Amino acid sequence: MKNRSNRLLALLLMVLGTAAISIAQVPDAELTRCASTERDSLRVLKNPALLRLRQHSEELIQNQVRLRKASRINADEIITIPVVVHLIHGQENQRIGGANNANITDAQVASQIEVLNEDYGNTSGYKGFYTDSLGVDTGIRFKLVTIVRTYNAKSQFSPVSDADELAEISPAWSTNRYLNIWVCRLNDRYLGTSQFPIVTKITSQTAGLGTEEDEAKDALTDGVIIDFRYFGRNSDAITSRIYNLGRTTTHEVGHWLGLIHIWGDQNCGTDYCADTPTAFTKNETTDTDCTPVFSNCRGVNTRNMIENYMDYSPDICMSMFTNDQKERMHAVMELSKRRAKLVELSKITTEELIVNLYPNPVQEVLFSDVYTPNFEVFTASVYNQKGQKVIGEALNRTSLNVKNLPSGIYFYKVQTASRTLTKRFYVR
Ligand SMILES: [Zn+2]
Repeated sequence: MKNRSNRLLALLLMVLGTAAISIAQVPDAELTRCASTERDSLRVLKNPALLRLRQHSEELIQNQVRLRKASRINADEIITIPVVVHLIHGQENQRIGGANNANITDAQVASQIEVLNEDYGNTSGYKGFYTDSLGVDTGIRFKLVTIVRTYNAKSQFSPVSDADELAEISPAWSTNRYLNIWVCRLNDRYLGTSQFPIVTKITSQTAGLGTEEDEAKDALTDGVIIDFRYFGRNSDAITSRIYNLGRTTTHEVGHWLGLIHIWGDQNCGTDYCADTPTAFTKNETTDTDCTPVFSNCRGVNTRNMIENYMDYSPDICMSMFTNDQKERMHAVMELSKRRAKLVELSKITTEELIVNLYPNPVQEVLFSDVYTPNFEVFTASVYNQKGQKVIGEALNRTSLNVKNLPSGIYFYKVQTASRTLTKRFYVR
């Protein structure tokens, strides 16, 4: 009798479980591709100076694009971005794979890296729907470095406001060396979100617009966040009929490299790319036939470039970045401090450990550029002159807050499994 009631209970739980899963599945028509603009609004609200910084940044980007086009400097250069994928999942037993499980398989992660390389490479035989002659190879490639799997009991995260929390659960690997992608279950029916780069250096001209502390805080969450059900392709964790080819990540990484939605986030707005036609609004639709859409902006009738990765179209309809988008991404990689450092470090091939500290002397936040051979993990800690550890080990961090340390000489020790390097710095 006891066995029978246990069986009944198990059956009941199974039925309830199935019901819960089907409720959790949001119909495609109610999904919103991207929360980057919403997340950015919240960031600007917390730091209003950011808005002015952005306008200044935009001028710098436009200048850099003009320079690049005029000089053709690095026009055919291929840049490879190392990627760290953080999986935040609810599997206490660490079970990997299967429907409704954010602890996705290595194969699903690998499929997303494949998609990124196809989409940014515009390689022959790629999965695009249109074969528009405006589509270019962006000269950007991606290489998976590692997958970090972390259990967390929280059932879902907000793409607009939980970036800090995700970065606490699974800390970013140095955001001046890696593209960090957090994959988890998102709420609010969003597929993904991204942190826009800041390109302006903090100089006397931009004083008051940002602080070293803002910069250090931004560095902790710099990356993209994607719901596991839209990450990669050909997996039973992917449930959507229209967002099923991994292009949510292509889109979000586009933002991470400074691209703006092709309708400019307002009716007939601008994305600062002349070769993407002005569009009245986003192409948010379940139409997988990719039926042409037209806009009338300022009296001009144009066909929307719904095949552009920076629209909201179904994955199957997306197939291109334009040359101006390519130039913009490269300009941003040259101007944004962390992106530029990432590019610089990606070209180093030595077997030595390299550590640079700045500013030195330092008052508030000490930044470090660390190169470890073969993408080895590192820890950083700080010792005083007596050899006492005053700041404990931080994993793969680009910044440390030192403003509570008495002024004097300190030692910054970087350690990997096989190498150690210590650098001296001064606290004022
Ligand atoms: Zn977007």
